[in-house]
Amino acid sequence: MALSEDFIYQLRLGNPIEDVVNSYSTIKRHGSTSKCLCPFHSEKTPSCTIYSDTQSFYCFGCGAGGDVISFIKKIENLSYYEAVRFLAERAGIAMPDTSGDDFARKKSRTYEINRETANFYFKCLLSGSDKRGLAYFKERKLLPQTIKKYGLGYAPDQWDALRNHLRSLGFTDSEMVTADVCRFSEKGSCYDNFRGRVIFPIIDLRGNVIAFGGRTIDNRGPKYLNSADTPVFKKSRNLFSLNFAKNSSSKKLILAEGYMDVIAINQAGFENVVATLGTALTPEQARLMSQYASEVIISYDSDAAGQAATQRAINLLSSAGLTTKIIKLHDAKDPDEYIKKFGSTRFKFLLDESNDAIDFELSKCKTGLNISEDSDKYTYLRKVVGVISSLDDSLLRDVYISKISRECEINTSVLYSKVEEAIKNKHKIKQKLEWESTKRSLTQRDEINPEASKYSAQSKAEEFIILYLIKNQDKLKEIKNKISADEFVTSLTKKFFLQ
Ligand SMILES: [Zn+2]
Repeated sequence: MALSEDFIYQLRLGNPIEDVVNSYSTIKRHGSTSKCLCPFHSEKTPSCTIYSDTQSFYCFGCGAGGDVISFIKKIENLSYYEAVRFLAERAGIAMPDTSGDDFARKKSRTYEINRETANFYFKCLLSGSDKRGLAYFKERKLLPQTIKKYGLGYAPDQWDALRNHLRSLGFTDSEMVTADVCRFSEKGSCYDNFRGRVIFPIIDLRGNVIAFGGRTIDNRGPKYLNSADTPVFKKSRNLFSLNFAKNSSSKKLILAEGYMDVIAINQAGFENVVATLGTALTPEQARLMSQYASEVIISYDSDAAGQAATQRAINLLSSAGLTTKIIKLHDAKDPDEYIKKFGSTRFKFLLDESNDAIDFELSKCKTGLNISEDSDKYTYLRKVVGVISSLDDSLLRDVYISKISRECEINTSVLYSKVEEAIKNKHKIKQKLEWESTKRSLTQRDEINPEASKYSAQSKAEEFIILYLIKNQDKLKEIKNKISADEFVTSLTKKFFLQ
């Protein structure tokens, strides 16, 4: 998809970055820069800066930045090509039609292959001669209506079952490989990617099958195998079961760890549950969730890996402006097991009772410490100050300050002033970074006088003198008596002075 520079230039002209950003978050102009509340993270004071002269943006809060195309890519969850198409449509510019059509054709063929593949696996599960897939789902207590709802399947334990089926429908080997349902061997023969696995089709919000997850039933190979990225699928931008969860009336989403957890929770009567696709949560997925919910309840496994993933998820979700809560599972390793052991009513109770993410952070500060001892108490309080000072809401800060003061039996005002101090320091660091970046963007743009960046203050003064002399030629003699050309630090201003 080679797009010419001319076309991209036109596209940028037709889509001034201020206008584009402004349609997502209201911007306020200050000269050549503008600011707005960052649409990529939650904040109360604007740190997203838009530079009109370089047609770029940068957020000092979360580090998001780039040109108008990267802005649209990020906010609309699109690939580069799709973002370009989006902006072309917005500005009424025709897309160059060479590579685009080819890509569109690849996409539609991949959708067709995925649909046929899902049907094939579904049939193999229910009426194939190998009943091991069905036995697995039965053992996991899935009901027939659940299997149907999710379109679950079974990939036969053969190298060419799917390939032969798709060939008979007129698909080429290379189309199957593009969809990642088949792969090429080193010798160039085409073989099925999923073999002897139960299959979880991944469905997008429009109901298209976009990818597959396959779980082993006999511990051969990796436990889970997922489609690689294809023309219709990006792992980092999709969530399993969001096609169902989006219809739920609840403003809460449950984030579970894997396909089976999601299906078990859904079958227990909770439609609002999703999972990532075999990877850790990404910022794009967090943003995607924020379009459907205001609160996310994290329900990961109770093992160490699950707890580390929980930590990561909390950070990403709160950056996307979502409130987070954690479910603490007692006597069960995952939600699936919990529901089987204790039933869905008790799981619902757990959801309502789930611990606040801030409590989770604070309880982690205590790990390994005995706060009845003074030195440990001091360490604990220092960590706690870090957590509380990162909260945007002052009311929420007060709540936790008084809670911790009670716990540690110290005066509220002491903790309060420590938190204030930490906030001021953070603010100072932020201002410093902002100033340095502005300085950098100013000096970087000084291509006419590259030496200016080395002596910014002096060169500015020199430029003023030259400007003054250009306007007031009569004062030239007077000035030349006072300063000599040798005193100029940059050769460009020196040259002007000598002229
Ligand atoms: Zn930001």
